[in-house]
Amino acid sequence: MIDIRYGMRVQCGERTELSIRFLAAAVDAGIPLDLTLRPRTVRCVIEHQHADEEHQAVLAELPLADTAEVWVSWLSGHEPHTVERRTYCPVSAGPDRPCELYAQHPDGHSWQLIERHVTA
Ligand SMILES: [Zn+2]
Ligand SMILES: [Zn+2]
Repeated sequence: MIDIRYGMRVQCGERTELSIRFLAAAVDAGIPLDLTLRPRTVRCVIEHQHADEEHQAVLAELPLADTAEVWVSWLSGHEPHTVERRTYCPVSAGPDRPCELYAQHPDGHSWQLIERHVTA
């Protein structure tokens, strides 16, 4: 059988759990989050084996600001340490294929990556 995904570039997929303490601190810092949606797990969407050791995931989209999303960063085995607004990556693969990552992200753009299926 031919694996059609062979050679494809994939997302990192590392998961982290966001604690209520972390989310409450983000709200205190002015990030508009719905705390009733926690606890939640987020997954790193940067390219697998990314050069930068920090993992990156979208925490929330900002409904009134279509040029920004809220991202969290963490190191493997640690709780997230940063939450911040970032503007979108300005690079697109066409009119309907914008990159869904943030400006100046490392490694591949979102349209170059497929979701990584990690077996438990
Ligand atoms: Zn990662
Ligand atoms: Zn990009």
